[in-house]
Amino acid sequence: MTIKIQARAAAPIALLFSLAAGSHATEDQLTPVLARVLTPPAATVQTDGRWQLPYELVLTNITSAPMTIEALEARDPDREGLVVHSLTDEMIAPSLALLGGVSSSTLGPGQSGVLFVNASFERREDVPKRLAHRLVITSPDPKPPLPKRTVQDVAPSHVEPVAPAVLGPPLRGHGWVAAASCCEAYHRRAVLAVNGARHVAQRFAIDWLQLDAEARLATGDPTRNESFPQFGAEAVAVADAKVAHVHDGLPDGQPGSFPPAVTAATANGNHVVLDLGAGRWALYAHLQPGSLRVKRGDRVERGHVLGLVGSSGNSDAPHLHFQVMDSPSPLASNGLPYVIDSFELRGNVASSSDLNDELEAANEPVSVVPTDGPTHRTNQLPADRALVDFP
Ligand SMILES: [Zn+2]
Repeated sequence: MTIKIQARAAAPIALLFSLAAGSHATEDQLTPVLARVLTPPAATVQTDGRWQLPYELVLTNITSAPMTIEALEARDPDREGLVVHSLTDEMIAPSLALLGGVSSSTLGPGQSGVLFVNASFERREDVPKRLAHRLVITSPDPKPPLPKRTVQDVAPSHVEPVAPAVLGPPLRGHGWVAAASCCEAYHRRAVLAVNGARHVAQRFAIDWLQLDAEARLATGDPTRNESFPQFGAEAVAVADAKVAHVHDGLPDGQPGSFPPAVTAATANGNHVVLDLGAGRWALYAHLQPGSLRVKRGDRVERGHVLGLVGSSGNSDAPHLHFQVMDSPSPLASNGLPYVIDSFELRGNVASSSDLNDELEAANEPVSVVPTDGPTHRTNQLPADRALVDFP
């Protein structure tokens, strides 16, 4: 210790200055944009074989001047600050949702936004245990003492160490499409303000649709629920579980339009929430009225039929919305990662617009890119638009 102090004291002044400039951890910083990780990230592995780590940074400009986010670096403090993910230039605006969902790289005075980060890794051991973040921010006319360009080291977080839940499939049979699976589609972007806080309950949610043998979304009149092959399919328990909540009595909507006046109480339609244990709950939403086969408090075994796929609640066509979350509340919870233990991956639907055109092109086959590689998959989360067969 004595030797180290003597060595510092003897160092040239220029060297001391450069040491100070490089030691971000020991200096106070002006941070015109506050930043925090919404909830500690948790990883899952998808059918492309990559480990996905989706999380959100809540940014708030606390100055009276506009602040533009020029770059974000996510770093691994346990690997000497290795940059594990970065967003720059034109990648910022589409990733930053201001209030009301407007995309921009500039936070106005006093404005808050959510920056969506989708880091991904080749192997599980590459996923960091902790994260640190560096933001580069510019402002055309900052008030002194703020400079025109600020580099902030902010928003440290741990990464959840637990492995994703291993579950059975929520449905049976062939031709199921994982619509809006993680991490770029609408579920991921659904940051809901519930009970006074932001929640991303749907971070790993999937809307399950079914294609018929000719890869069509519907046959016949696409304004009728009965024209869709998944209408009436059995939704089944993904694990041995206890029924935590059921809701029944809401009508199925008509395909092609969302029902008016959806509320927090009706958004999920007729639904079942299973308590999977270990702080995890599973939601099955939009079931047919009168189709629920379980009641609150029931114990169910994996594969037990819970209800029939319908289109109740905030739904514009029959589908099963399935998600895993950290509380029994479908809205005021944090979406948790999971994998399905065994399924066949047939391919990927080429375009999300193919899935959204259920009225215009329901009777036309959707374009599917066949699986490149082995089709039998274990312990993976079907990626967005994956086409899978369940046992
Ligand atoms: Zn959904």
